[in-house]
Amino acid sequence: KKTILSGIQPSGKLHIGNYFGAIRQHIAMQEEGEAFYFIANYHSLTSLNDGEKLRENTIDVTLDYLALGLDPKKATFFAQSDVPQVTELAWILGTLTPVSLMEKGVSYKDKIAAGLSPNIGLFTYPILQAADILIYHSDIVPVGEDQKQNIEITRDLAGKFNYAYEGEYLKIPEEHIVKSVAVVPGIDGRKMSKSYDNTINIFAEGKQLKKRVMSIETDSTPLDDPKDPENDNVFALIKLFADKEKQDEIAEKYRAGGYGYGHAKKELLGMIEDYFGEAREKRREMAKDLDYVHDVLREGGKKARERAEEVMEPIREVAGIVNHR
Ligand code: ATP
Ligand code: MG
Repeated sequence: KKTILSGIQPSGKLHIGNYFGAIRQHIAMQEEGEAFYFIANYHSLTSLNDGEKLRENTIDVTLDYLALGLDPKKATFFAQSDVPQVTELAWILGTLTPVSLMEKGVSYKDKIAAGLSPNIGLFTYPILQAADILIYHSDIVPVGEDQKQNIEITRDLAGKFNYAYEGEYLKIPEEHIVKSVAVVPGIDGRKMSKSYDNTINIFAEGKQLKKRVMSIETDSTPLDDPKDPENDNVFALIKLFADKEKQDEIAEKYRAGGYGYGHAKKELLGMIEDYFGEAREKRREMAKDLDYVHDVLREGGKKARERAEEVMEPIREVAGIVNHR
C-alpha cells in the first residue's frame, strides 16, 4: 500500500481553494492508500503569532475535515507538533540545504511580496515541509499547483541526505496535482490564500458568504454587452461547482450579453450553499462534542509518531546523533 501524505496550515479558516486544490483529493485518497494528513501548526507560526487563534484554528481545521468526510479510521489525522521527529529531521536536512536553494523559493518570494514579514521560518519553510513528507516514507503528496516547487525541493533534500550518508534512508516522493483545479483564484483574482485575505471560506454562510461572493472582482463590461467567461473570476469559480452542462449554459449567457456579473454571482452563491450544505449540518453537530475531536488528534498523533520514529532512528544512528537518555 502506498503512503499518502499531505498537510494544511491552520493559519485561518479553510477556503474553497483548499477544498478543490487539496482537501477533496485527500478525502478521496483515504480509500486508496495509507493516508497521513496533518495540521501544519509550526508552519503557520510563520504568519500567525496568536496562541489563542492558533489553538482555535487547529480545532476548526479538524472539524472541517471531519465534516467534509475524513474518516479517522481510514486516514491518520494529526497535528504536526505531536510528531517531534519532524522538527528533529528538519534541522538535520537544513544542514544539507544550500542557502541558494531556499533563495529560489517561489512561495517565499510570493509571501514577501504579499506583505508577510521575511522571517527565517518563512525562508526555511520548505525544509520543514520536506521533513513532514520524508519522515513517513511518503510515496504520494496530493497538493495544489503552488506546492510543486516545494515537492521538488523535498526530493532534492532526500537525495542529498541519501548521498551524504550513502544509503536509502529517505524515500523520494511524487506530487499529485489535479490539473483542472490547480489554482483556484481568490476574490481579487490572485491565488486564493488564507494569508491574502481574498478567500471564500468553505463554511461561511448567510450574509457573510453573500458579501464575499458579491465582492469578487470583475471587469467593467456593461450588463448588456457580451462577456468572455474564460476571462472572469466568477466563472472560474462556477466551473468548480457546476457540471459540464451547467457550465456551458452559463458560458452561453455570458457570450450572449444581457447577463451581468451580478447574475453570475447569485448563481455561484446558490451553488456554494448547495454544495457544502450537508457538510455544514454535519459540522454543526460535531462542534457540540469537542472531546471526539481531541480524541481523533490524540490517536492520530500517536500513530504518526510511531511511524516517524521508525524512520528517524536509523537517521540519528548514521548521522552520529547519540542518544544518552
Ligand atoms: P497560506 O496563505 O497560509 O499559505 P493557503 O490558503 O495557501 O494558506 P495552505 O495551508 O498553504 O493554504 O495549503 C493547503 C493546501 O491547499 C495545499 O495543498 C495547497 O496547494 C492548497 N491550496 C491552497 N490555496 C489553493 C488555491 N488557491 N488553489 C488550489 N489549491 C490551493
Ligand atoms: Mg499556502
